[in-house]
Amino acid sequence: MKLIVFCGPSGSGKTSIKNFLLATNSQLAFSVSATTRPMREFEKHGVDYYFISIEEFKAKISNNEFIEWEEVYANGFYGTLKSEIERINKAGRVTVFDVDVEGGLHIKESFGDKCLAVFVRPPSITELHKRLVKRGTETDESLRKRVAKAELEMTYEKYFDRVIINNDFDLACEMSGQLVTKFLNE
Ligand code: 5GP
Repeated sequence: MKLIVFCGPSGSGKTSIKNFLLATNSQLAFSVSATTRPMREFEKHGVDYYFISIEEFKAKISNNEFIEWEEVYANGFYGTLKSEIERINKAGRVTVFDVDVEGGLHIKESFGDKCLAVFVRPPSITELHKRLVKRGTETDESLRKRVAKAELEMTYEKYFDRVIINNDFDLACEMSGQLVTKFLNE
């Protein structure tokens, strides 16, 4: 059983890289997290996230249904469901996670060498700020929170197995693909 974690600040491009890998490697399957944040346009329940209420999320915490969960932003809960890993294992595929830095390190700690932990780094905080503004999904307040969190998250990259600098998206995808192939063949 192998697992691959993609972490990095919001706006680093990790979700797009993860989507590229999933589209090009049929061995991989995405662990769909649960979250209490509102659904964005183009997102789908059960595909991008399981969008649930804070009450439902808290009930799942009480039922011990998460491997890890975080209140990533105030009232913005995100968590990895144990049932997702079971579902993907049963299908004989490799689980890919797109989680925040703390969640990712938690998963790495739980699974050790079975887990490849990749940190996706934006070229700079200024560039990350620009990308988030361009993405147009954030309010001034949530943008401010995401940039502040990114500054902190950038200090964690040393704890990861591999770092991908996402300067050029195509190149970052190619390098990520190579890392994954190597890990799966080890
Ligand atoms: P977004 O709101 O942009 O989709 O995600 C915000 C942050 O929460 C991202 O860094 C994302 O990777 C992280 N995240 C998504 N799912 C999980 C999860 O299950 N656990 C943790 N700890 N973080 C998550």
